[in-house]
Amino acid sequence: MNIIVCIKQVPDTSEVRIDPETNTIIREGVPAIINPFDENAIEEAIQLVENNGGKVTVLTMGPPQAETALREALAMGADEAILVSDRCFAASDTLATSYVLASAIQSIGEYDLIFCGKQAFDGDTAQVPPGIAEHLGIAQITFAIGMEIDGKKVRVRRLLEDEFEITEVKMPALVTVVKQINDPRRPGIKSKLAAKKKEIVVWDSACIEAEACLCGFDGSPTRVMRTFAPTHDHPTEKFEGEPRDVAGAVVDRLIAAQLV
Ligand SMILES: Cc1cc2nc3c(=O)[nH]c(=O)nc-3n(C[C@H](O)[C@H](O)[C@H](O)COP(=O)(O)OP(=O)(O)OC[C@H]3O[C@@H](n4cnc5c(N)ncnc54)[C@H](O)[C@@H]3O)c2cc1C
Repeated sequence: MNIIVCIKQVPDTSEVRIDPETNTIIREGVPAIINPFDENAIEEAIQLVENNGGKVTVLTMGPPQAETALREALAMGADEAILVSDRCFAASDTLATSYVLASAIQSIGEYDLIFCGKQAFDGDTAQVPPGIAEHLGIAQITFAIGMEIDGKKVRVRRLLEDEFEITEVKMPALVTVVKQINDPRRPGIKSKLAAKKKEIVVWDSACIEAEACLCGFDGSPTRVMRTFAPTHDHPTEKFEGEPRDVAGAVVDRLIAAQLV
């Protein structure tokens, strides 16, 4: 069983700050981590390979420093790591990003499953995984909370708003995972040191035969009109006291404002 896990390096912060001058995310002084959902994807891939045999390849598109995320994945137990990096990938929107990742996956060749996180903590669109599946022409199942392999099929338990759904598809397929699926392992110092010595394959656009017109700015139909940090300057009202004493007043206020 060959599993490819797409991982993204994201800023380690829940409070993304925007530079008011340039309207871009302030990354200075913010450490980078593997997107948390992608850690669940790595863990699930490792567990499946431990039980069924095969190998786990981690893949990221990013600048050279994204290598750090790949080394962490190797320390967790991934077998191989690939960084796709090229100046012509800069300014890629989600369509171009998914095209580049799909091209890299085609260059890897044989695979049974592709795992992604359900969404990235920074960009947050959840558009890349469906984009990859569409470029590759394979089935996709989102929000996996559990899965089992049945011959050439994968059966996935999906987390919906207030229920579960079981979906089964033929492999190869792409699956996105949610955090409830597992607890990612924390590699020890020995695994981290071993991961430092492992090779990270670096591919540019030529290696993955990516067409320049589909990458970066040229391949990105998205145009950002404005970026801004949301302000919280609307009036607020505070009800103080024990919940049982103030609950009635809160409900009255919501009814008066026609909110309930
Ligand atoms: C006009 C425009 C220009 C942009 N220019 C740049 C730029 O120059 N540099 C830049 O860094 N970003 C740029 N971005 C942001 C970039 O498009 C997104 O970061 C990227 O497409 C991922 O989208 P997302 O964060 O919403 O991921 P989501 O779709 O929410 O991610 C879901 C999952 O997809 C996988 N995934 C996502 N991204 C990657 C990746 N890079 N490698 C491997 N797996 C991945 C992961 O498994 C992740 O959990 C730009 C965006 C726009 C709209």
